[in-house]
Amino acid sequence: MRDRRHAEIAGGGFTGLTLAAALAQRGWSVRVHERAAEIRAFGAGIWLWENGVRVLNAIGAADEALTGCTEAPDWRSWDRHGRLIDSIAFGRPYSRVFCLPREQLLQAILNTAKRAGAEIVTVLGDAAHSMSPGLGQGCGTSIVNALTLANMLEEDADIPTVLRRWEARQRPLAEHTQRWSRITWPLIPWPAWCARAYYNLPAGASWIARQRRRPSEHIVYGTEDMALWMPPEGALEVTPHGQRGVT
Ligand SMILES: Cc1cc2nc3c(=O)[nH]c(=O)nc-3n(C[C@H](O)[C@H](O)[C@H](O)COP(=O)(O)OP(=O)(O)OC[C@H]3O[C@@H](n4cnc5c(N)ncnc54)[C@H](O)[C@@H]3O)c2cc1C
Repeated sequence: MRDRRHAEIAGGGFTGLTLAAALAQRGWSVRVHERAAEIRAFGAGIWLWENGVRVLNAIGAADEALTGCTEAPDWRSWDRHGRLIDSIAFGRPYSRVFCLPREQLLQAILNTAKRAGAEIVTVLGDAAHSMSPGLGQGCGTSIVNALTLANMLEEDADIPTVLRRWEARQRPLAEHTQRWSRITWPLIPWPAWCARAYYNLPAGASWIARQRRRPSEHIVYGTEDMALWMPPEGALEVTPHGQRGVT
């Protein structure tokens, strides 16, 4: 029998806590080091695309995290005069997006980690791939990478080898997501008319939308056969078309 493995995790944010929960659920002893006096999230809402929801579902935090949140019908950007720049259709059920309070998301992951008995130091999340918030994928990408690492460590005891393989597997998509976050309006310094023309080019609009949806459609390593998370009856609000989300 393999000795019980132990992880020391620096940082009790979304990423560190997801990794803590996933490793503890796989039998590791885990200790999380958080530099702040308490574990809490700053800011108001956060967008979580389908890739992040798959992770919450896999670790058992989805119901608590997503209850009462809002499911958006599509993604839209407006200029300062309220004119539409672009929109992305989500292509249900594989790329839904939800808006939820950051604190609710963090507490749900924290509770899951504690239930699993959590208490590598490796660099994950924003420390490894800080992301501009243009696409709303920083947290989603971080927790996908955290759960993937836990699943890969489950298969191979040689940690340096697993870290190399994990990086090779995850880096291309993380870089794609960083790139498309950076060039998603309003972060690009283009005037609104120019962004509107670019995103709605007849020949390119669906290709651009596919690039921006790609992280959300990613199936997390080790969760290929998991069912989609579906909300309990009446647990969500659906934002009417045209209403703006706030983060
Ligand atoms: C304005 C804005 C909007 C955003 N909107 C979205 C969105 O809609 N959807 C989305 O998916 N992402 C969004 N993001 C990105 C998302 O917030 C981050 O990607 C996410 O918080 C990363 O999680 P993390 O756990 O890696 O880092 P953090 O959330 O920063 O957590 C790191 C934790 O580690 C602790 N820490 C740091 N250094 C140490 C140390 N040396 N020792 C011990 N503890 C330490 C910190 O105190 C903190 O608690 C947004 C970001 C911004 C700025």
